[in-house]
Amino acid sequence: MTVTTFSELELDESLLRALQEKGFTRPTAIQAAAIPPALEGRDVLGSAPTGTGKTAAYLLPVLQHLLDFPRKKSGPPRILIVTPTRELAMQVADQARDLAKHTHLDIATITGGVAFMNHAEVFSENQDVVVATTGRLLQYIKEENFDCRAVETLILDEADRMLDMGFAQDIETIAAETRWRKQTLLFSATLEGDAIKDFSERLLNDPEEIEADPARRERKKILQWYYRADDIKHKTALLIHLLKQPEVTRSVVFVRKRERVHELCGWLREAGINTSYLEGELEQFKRNEAIKRVVDGRVNVLVATDVAARGIDIDDVSHVFNFDMPLTSDTYLHRIGRTGRAGKKGIAISLVEAHDNLLLGKVTRYIKEPLKSRTIDELRPTTRPPSEKLNGKPSKKVLAKRKEKKENEQKEAKPRVKERHRNTKNIGKRRKPTAAKTDSAE
Ligand code: ADP
Ligand code: MG
Repeated sequence: MTVTTFSELELDESLLRALQEKGFTRPTAIQAAAIPPALEGRDVLGSAPTGTGKTAAYLLPVLQHLLDFPRKKSGPPRILIVTPTRELAMQVADQARDLAKHTHLDIATITGGVAFMNHAEVFSENQDVVVATTGRLLQYIKEENFDCRAVETLILDEADRMLDMGFAQDIETIAAETRWRKQTLLFSATLEGDAIKDFSERLLNDPEEIEADPARRERKKILQWYYRADDIKHKTALLIHLLKQPEVTRSVVFVRKRERVHELCGWLREAGINTSYLEGELEQFKRNEAIKRVVDGRVNVLVATDVAARGIDIDDVSHVFNFDMPLTSDTYLHRIGRTGRAGKKGIAISLVEAHDNLLLGKVTRYIKEPLKSRTIDELRPTTRPPSEKLNGKPSKKVLAKRKEKKENEQKEAKPRVKERHRNTKNIGKRRKPTAAKTDSAE
C-alpha cells in the first residue's frame, strides 16, 4: 500500500492541523516510507536526496509517540535529535515547534555559541524534544548537566555530514550515553560508503532500511549552466550583472575561502547590491541575523563559504552561484542542493575561469551531463576557451573520438613508414605481420 495522505498515517488531529497550516498536503516519499515503521517503534535507516522532507519524516512519528504516551510528571528530554551544525539544529527545532504548535510539547536546542545561562532553563524545565549539536551536548553530558536517562528515541540527522565532519566518535559516545533508549533513527542524504554502513550497523538494531526514490514532483529540477570568465574582475562583473536580473529573487553565492566572502561583499556593495554573509568565524547571533535577513527578504543575496553554509535550509532559493568553483563534485552537489527544494525549480550557475576548467570537468563527469556554457553579450570573455587538455580527464566520448582520430592518423602514417622500410631494408620483412594487422583493420 502506498500512503498518499497524512491522515492515512494515523497522526493526531493536532499534527494534521499543523501540517495543513504549513501547506504540507501530502507526504513525500521518505515520509510515507519512514513514518509507519518509526511509529511502530522500529529503528529506521533512512536516506533520500536533500530537500525531500527527511525532517518531518522523523519528527512526525516521534511527536506522535509523545502524544500517544504522555508522561505523568515533567522531566528530562525523551527525544534527542543530533545534527551536524547549529543552523540545522535551529531549523529542525523550528520545524518541530511548527508541527507541535497545537500540542503541549516542549522543544529546546542545545548548541555551541549560546551562553550557558540560556541553556540553564533547558535543564530546569520540562523538555520533551531536544535538538543538539554534538560538541556542546557532550560537554553538558560530561558535566552532568544533561540527563540522558529519559531519552527514548535518538535521532541522527545528516549522518553522512556528521561522518564527513569527523563526529563519528562523538556520536558513538552519545549513543552509549543514551543506552536506555528504545529506538534509533538515522537519516542521511546517501547511504553510500563503508563508513556510514559500518556506523549504522553499530548504532541501529534491525533497522527498516529505506532508500526513498522521490516522486518526480518532489525531485529537484535544477537547471545548471556556466559562464566563462577571463579573470576575477570579469567574473565579478558577470556576477553583478546576473544578480541584477529580476528573476534572481533569492540567491546564495558560494566562495571557497572566508577572506573572499568579505572581499566579494565589498565589491557587490559598490555595485549597489546588498548582501548578507556567512563564514565560519561568525558569532552565533550574527549568523542567525545573517540568515534572518535573507529569510525576511531584507536582502536577496547570501554570500557563504561551504563550511558556513552546511545544513542551512533557506526556502525558495531561486539561484545558486558558484563564484569560486568547488574543489569536489560532492561539494558542488551540496551547493546546488540549496536551490530547487521540494519540487520547485532552481538554477545553479557557475562562473569559471581558465584555471577552474579541471574542476568543471570533474563536475560534469560526476553529474553525468555536460554543463552548457552561456554568454552575456556585453560581457563576453575575451580569452578563448581552454583546450581540452586543460579540461581534466577527458570524457569517454572524447577519449573514444581521440582514439579514433589517433588510429586514423596512424593508418595514414603507417603505410608511408612501412613502404620506406620495405623498400630500403631487409628487416622490413620481419615486421610484416604487424603491418598486415594494421592493414586489415582498415
Ligand atoms: P531534507 O532534510 O530531506 O533535506 P527538509 O526536511 O529540510 O528536507 O525539507 C525540505 C523542504 O520541503 C522544507 O522547506 C520543508 O518545509 C518542505 N517539506 C517537507 N515535507 C513536505 C511535504 N510533505 N509537503 C510539502 N513540503 C514539504
Ligand atoms: Mg535535512
